[in-house]
Amino acid sequence: MSQKGGFARNVKRAAEIGCQTLQFFVGNPTGWKPLVLDEEEAEKRRLVLKEHDIFPYVIHSAYLINLAAKKEEFLHKSRLLLQQTMENASLIGAPYVVVHVGSHGGRGFKKGLELFISTLEEEMPNWPPGVELLLENTAGAGTSLGGSFISIGNILKALGEDAPLGLCLDTAHAFAVGYDFSTTEGLKKAMGELFEHVGMEKIKVIHVNDSATPRGSCRDRHAHLGEGFIGSEGFKAFFRYPWPDNIPAILETPEMGSGWDAINMERLRSYAGKQES
Ligand SMILES: [Zn+2]
Repeated sequence: MSQKGGFARNVKRAAEIGCQTLQFFVGNPTGWKPLVLDEEEAEKRRLVLKEHDIFPYVIHSAYLINLAAKKEEFLHKSRLLLQQTMENASLIGAPYVVVHVGSHGGRGFKKGLELFISTLEEEMPNWPPGVELLLENTAGAGTSLGGSFISIGNILKALGEDAPLGLCLDTAHAFAVGYDFSTTEGLKKAMGELFEHVGMEKIKVIHVNDSATPRGSCRDRHAHLGEGFIGSEGFKAFFRYPWPDNIPAILETPEMGSGWDAINMERLRSYAGKQES
């Protein structure tokens, strides 16, 4: 959505088109410098969200964070920025922080995943209670980790059933990696892998995006719902799976003026079989 006019205005704009959940950044999404949210500002934001009945809401961490970074300096900065993001989430009352699984930087997937797991193992005890870190499946470009449901399942298993971790499932990324979300048959296979290796109970948030690039392209470009390669039929089939009632479904469709946001919301509601409330 448009970010014009500050937090309260943005939340109001979302509520006006019927949003019941929201994802936002705290601080600069493309910078290293952590924003330390003070309690007064956090309280203000909590109240705005409450006023518009938006819950649960999700904080997306900054894009530079790479918990498998090859360079010591970047790994260190990533840890600091993630820790501050978890603390900000706690202050603002967000139960979830989303992070991308990161990139192995040329050392190979096995080493990259090992480092990702050991970094999380060290960081998890420092997190405030009540906030879970959700690993978002990636579009699988280049050296990026976490494109396959199996690899995310392995991370979650390695860190234990009770770890404050889960999956944020991005439909466009899964499609770009090669999971066929556009057909009932393809979905059956993809969901089979997802439920077997990750488990439905670990899926906490869904990013509902159509894909502007073909299946298997490993390119991350989102499209408006029904206008991309997944298409309406794919999303309808996707929402026939027995998702929990309270699972946040979040749009990350291109920002092209408020008209499209309302259309995407309407389509999402019709795919999910929900009436305007
Ligand atoms: Zn996403």
